[in-house]
Amino acid sequence: MIHVDAAIIGFGKGGKTLAGALAAAGKSVAMIERSSGMYGGTCINVACIPTKSLVHSAALSTVQGGTFADKAARYRQAIERKNFVTSTLRGKNYHKLADNPNIEVLAGEASFIDSHRLGVMMTDGTKTTLEAKWIFINTGAVPFVPPVPGLKESKFFYTSDSLMELTRLPERMVIIGGGYIGMEFASMFTNFGSQVTVVQNEAAFLPREDAEIAQTVLESLTARGIRLIRSAKVQDVRDDDGKAIVAVETAEGVEHLAAEAVLVATGRRPSVAGLNLEAAGVALTDRGAIRTDEHLKTTAPDVWAMGDVAGGLQFTYISLDDYRIVASQLLGDGSRTTANRGAVPYSVFIDPPFSRVGMSEQEALEKGYEIKVAKLPVAAIPKALVLNDQTGLLKAVVDAKTGLILGAHFFCEESYEMINLVKLAIDAKLPYQTLKNAIYTHPTMSEALNDLFVSLQ
Ligand SMILES: Cc1cc2nc3c(=O)[nH]c(=O)nc-3n(C[C@H](O)[C@H](O)[C@H](O)COP(=O)(O)OP(=O)(O)OC[C@H]3O[C@@H](n4cnc5c(N)ncnc54)[C@H](O)[C@@H]3O)c2cc1C
Repeated sequence: MIHVDAAIIGFGKGGKTLAGALAAAGKSVAMIERSSGMYGGTCINVACIPTKSLVHSAALSTVQGGTFADKAARYRQAIERKNFVTSTLRGKNYHKLADNPNIEVLAGEASFIDSHRLGVMMTDGTKTTLEAKWIFINTGAVPFVPPVPGLKESKFFYTSDSLMELTRLPERMVIIGGGYIGMEFASMFTNFGSQVTVVQNEAAFLPREDAEIAQTVLESLTARGIRLIRSAKVQDVRDDDGKAIVAVETAEGVEHLAAEAVLVATGRRPSVAGLNLEAAGVALTDRGAIRTDEHLKTTAPDVWAMGDVAGGLQFTYISLDDYRIVASQLLGDGSRTTANRGAVPYSVFIDPPFSRVGMSEQEALEKGYEIKVAKLPVAAIPKALVLNDQTGLLKAVVDAKTGLILGAHFFCEESYEMINLVKLAIDAKLPYQTLKNAIYTHPTMSEALNDLFVSLQ
C-alpha cells in the first residue's frame, strides 16, 4: 500500500497545478492518470491547444487557396504540426510532475475503496492500493453521443477527441450540434476547404448570446459558406460507398446529407464512470456532476472535486481557478471560493472570434438594471481594415446609474485579447469612462474601446 498526503485522480489543469503546489509545500503527492496519451490533461492533448493550433493553420490555409488536393496537403501538415505541439507539451507536463521527488505519477485507473483509499488498476495489469489524507477528483468530462441509430457504427463518426487523429481532409462534413465546439470546428474545417453543414435541434442560433450579436455571427458564418439547419432531428446515419448518409428531419421533410466525416458536438458530460463514488460517500448533482460546496469540497470528508467533473463552466481556466480555491484552503487563508472568482470571460475561436464577459442586454434588463448600450461596427476600426477583416460588431452594456460595465460582447479579430481588458475593468469596478479615456497602443483592436464607449455620450 502506498501512503501519501494527497492523491489526485486525473492529470487535468487544476490537479496538476495543485500537485506542484502541494509538493512545493513538502507534501507527498500521487498523481493517477489512466492514459499515457493524456499527461497534461484534455486541454493540451485533445482540446484547447490542438484545436487552436489547427484554427491557426486553417486561417493561413484559407488565404493560400489552390485545389482541394493542395488544401488537403496543407491539412495533413497542420495535423503534423498539431501533433508536434501536443507531444511537446505532453512531455513537458509529464516531467514537470514525474521529476519532482515529492510526486509519484501512477499510470492507471483509480476507483474509491473508501473516502481515504483508492484502488488503482495499473496499465501494466497489476493492482495498487493507495491511502491518502486528502483526495482530489479531477477526471474531466467525456463527449456525450446521442442515441442516433447507426451513428456509432458509422466509420465516418467522430467526436472532438477522435477527430484530432483524422489525417485526410473530408470534402464534406456534417456536424451534429450547433454549440461553441461545433461552431469552432465548422469555422476551422471551412477554412481548411471542407464543405460544412451544421445540424442543430434548437430553433435559435447561440440562444444564450445577445440576439443581435448571434445574428451577426450567423450572417458571417453563412456568408463563408457554412450551412446551418435548425429545428432539425438526425433520424439515422448509414454508410454508403465511401461516405456516410445523414438523414435529417425538419418541418420541410427529410433531407439526406452525404459526408466523409460526421462530427458529434452535443456536449461533454462529467467523467465519473468507474470511480465507485458511492464507496466514498461522494454524491452527484441531478446533472451527473460531483456535488461540491463553494470550497469544492464534496459530500465526503477530505475529498474535493475540480474542473469539468465538478459541473461548472467547462474551461481550462476554471479548472485552474478551482486549484486556487483548493490551495486557498490547504495552503492559504481559505478566502477564495467559487462565489468570488470574479467575472468569467470566454472566447469562441471561430473566424473572426467571438468573446464575451458578463451580462447581455436582455439579462441586465431582466435583473432590473437601468442600462445604456454601446455599439461599434467593426468596419469603423482602422486595425480591422489592416487585418483585412471588417466583419463584426462590438457591444457593451453599462449600468446607467453607476457607469459600471455589466457586460461586453465582441465579434471581431483579436476579441480574445480585448475581452480580458473588460474583465479586468469589471473586477476592479472601473466605470466605462476609464476604458473610454485610456491611452491604448495603435493600431490595435483594443483602441476600439475608446470609440465604443464614446457612443454612450
Ligand atoms: C474541442 C474542445 C475545445 C476546447 N477549447 C477550449 C479552449 O479553447 N479554452 C478553454 O479554456 N477550454 C476549452 N475546452 C474545455 C477544456 O478542454 C476543459 O474544460 C478542460 O480541459 C477540463 O480540464 P479538467 O481539469 O477538468 O480535466 P481534464 O484535463 O479533462 O483531465 C482529466 C483527466 O482525468 C483522467 N481520468 C479520468 N478518469 C480517470 C480515472 N478514474 N483514473 C485516472 N485518470 C482518470 C483523464 O484521462 C484525463 O486525462 C475545450 C474542450 C473541447 C472538447
